[in-house]
Amino acid sequence: MNDVLIEKKPEIEASVRAEGRPTLAGLPRAALADFLRGLGVPEKEIRMRVSQLWHWLYVRGARDFSEMTNVARALHAKLEAAATLARPEIVREQVSADGTRKWVLRYPPRGKFDKGAEVECVYIPERDRGTLCVSSQVGCTLNCSFCHTGTQKLVRNLEAHEIVGQVLVARDRLGDYPGRTPPEGAFVPDDGGRFVTNIVFMGMGEPLYNYENVRDAIGVLTDPEGLQLSKRKITVSTSGVIPEIARLGADSGTMLAISLHATHDPLRDVLVPINRKYPIAELMQACADYPGLTNARRITFEYVMLKGVNDSLAEARTLVKLLRGIPAKINLIPFNPWPGSQYECSDWGQIERFSEVIFDAGYASPIRTPRGRDILAACGQLKSETEKMRARARLMLEEQLILGAD
Ligand code: SAH
Ligand code: SF4
Repeated sequence: MNDVLIEKKPEIEASVRAEGRPTLAGLPRAALADFLRGLGVPEKEIRMRVSQLWHWLYVRGARDFSEMTNVARALHAKLEAAATLARPEIVREQVSADGTRKWVLRYPPRGKFDKGAEVECVYIPERDRGTLCVSSQVGCTLNCSFCHTGTQKLVRNLEAHEIVGQVLVARDRLGDYPGRTPPEGAFVPDDGGRFVTNIVFMGMGEPLYNYENVRDAIGVLTDPEGLQLSKRKITVSTSGVIPEIARLGADSGTMLAISLHATHDPLRDVLVPINRKYPIAELMQACADYPGLTNARRITFEYVMLKGVNDSLAEARTLVKLLRGIPAKINLIPFNPWPGSQYECSDWGQIERFSEVIFDAGYASPIRTPRGRDILAACGQLKSETEKMRARARLMLEEQLILGAD
């Protein structure tokens, strides 16, 4: 398909370039406080200074220290010399024919042996919401057999500020700050209102394998004096890292999505190999124990539709039985193929019949409309460009050209 409407690499403003200094953009309060201490700010001023920076960073979307008019001049100079407000670099920006936007973002190297890393981040506009799908890791160690991200070799955790940085980039590019003129060339939806209302941790990586950073990023996103997202509008999707599900419930209380994809262990062992460690029955118990569940706060169970693999009506009936007693909704995801994938998407008629069985049992079972397929932005298609290029080169050498709540 080549109906990508716009594709370009935006100019990076000098003010947001990394230039070897650490960025303050995306940092949690505690990290900002430590940074100010390091600059020699007296202890009794720290709280106030953190609040000032916080407001500029997360309410006003400042991208230059010079905008921070209420910060004392001496501190200004120190901040300029020691830090930046850089966001991750936008390597590529694509807008799909359906309005979905995908950014390939690059983070600067974190040390001598780090070459830097790339992730993808996807914005999905809908009539009543704008959902940003963020990545929590570069690549993923879990190798689910139907997922493109799992084939990526290079894996590292993103730090909290690198996760928040994705939200800041999206808001910059969408012009999503009250009273701020969007940067030139930004894609600004014309229907009014805030543009990023929901966040889903459904991009690259397993968020619960990077627990502390994800928890801290959620803390920044939901801070009532900053970005102010509701924890009910943040969904963390996991392949089922049971011990961390309980921690997430206790620490953050966000919405939870479970990548279930199979109704019996032998099949789930193949599709989602972490199942060998944390099998279905234990996973269901962890879900039932997740705090705060009600009919209005249900767990989403994601189920990718794979032709002839997990899409029989008998499996639909087993699925319904499995979920008994858990406030749940089921999200059927048509499989998104990627170059070299070994599965096919179920036929549309079969997806509808499967959905009907679930619906008749009293569960909502929306079929997730694939978004942004033309820009490889759909579920499970995310994989950073450089890695793809590298993989392609490697495979060519071997002469075997093979090449995604409320
Ligand atoms: N690692 C986390 C979150 C990222 S994946 C997790 O697995 O939950 C987001 C969702 O997309 C998951 O449900 C994942 O199983 C699904 N997915 C992965 N590859 C897919 C593909 N090729 N087609 C459709 N859905 C896919
Ligand atoms: Fe990792 Fe999720 Fe993909 Fe599995 S589906 S490989 S856990 S990103």
